[in-house]
Amino acid sequence: MSAPRTVLVLGGTTEGRAAAAALAGRPGIRVVSSLAGAVRSPRLPDGEIRIGGFGGAEGLAGYLRAERVGAVLDATHPFAAGITANAVTACRAAGVGLVVLRRPGWAEGPGDRWHRTGSVATAAALLPALLPGTAGRVLLTTGRGGLAHFAGVDAGFWIRAVDPPAPPLPARHTVLLGRGPFDLDAERALFAGVRPDVLVTKDSGGEATAPKLVAARERGVPVVVVDRPPLPAGVDRADVVPDLPAALARVFASPAPR
Ligand code: NAP
Repeated sequence: MSAPRTVLVLGGTTEGRAAAAALAGRPGIRVVSSLAGAVRSPRLPDGEIRIGGFGGAEGLAGYLRAERVGAVLDATHPFAAGITANAVTACRAAGVGLVVLRRPGWAEGPGDRWHRTGSVATAAALLPALLPGTAGRVLLTTGRGGLAHFAGVDAGFWIRAVDPPAPPLPARHTVLLGRGPFDLDAERALFAGVRPDVLVTKDSGGEATAPKLVAARERGVPVVVVDRPPLPAGVDRADVVPDLPAALARVFASPAPR
């Protein structure tokens, strides 16, 4: 009997868990999910798991060779640009097939008041113009990274994050610990309690955190939307939900490791 083919799923997302579940139990396949170890108690996917960084693209290439990985599914978050760039470099170096699963971004609809911007830093710079002076209230849902950019903005902040964020933080802030999915009723209650003048979000896409956009629309709250970093050129990209079976088929068809 031939050795099982190893598929490495770079995860930390709903899609990573879905991909691992779809692969687990397939005959002839060993699936290993990799998590960064960035959150205290991550939701764990089915199957084998490894946790922690690889040590850059070179470390990841070494792991692919050592574990005789046959294919990589990058199901990391759309804003996790570092690991995706490393996966592209490492897979090329090790001769391993790579498919990047990327959920589509969100689109502005009728009634929305969105301000798209290129980075968390420029989102922070936009805020003073959108707030009614220093009494302004900001609901910040961009995660723990980049919060230092908001430290100099004189407003009240409600910061939603999975784990407590580290300073520097805005002088006036309340931390709301929580992990999606968040349903519409919960988001309506959040908006009713916080009464934000502005919502700040990354364009994460997906269903789990989209209801906040509906709540903002219903209350006429402007939304600052941070655009995604671009994918590296030439990657094989699949939209997660509709394309997962086809993406998996492409991964299985990719050449065996050298
Ligand atoms: P990042 O900036 O792209 O990656 C930073 C470093 O963390 C990478 O160079 C790598 O370290 C390590 N790393 C990241 N993902 C990894 C994985 N799945 N397995 C092993 N190592 C990983 O990533 P990030 O934005 O900090 O996000 C970290 C993780 O959280 C990602 O896996 C992502 O899917 C998840 N996540 C991120 C966000 C977000 O908004 N950024 C939101 C939800 C979930 P080495 O160079 O040492 O290999």
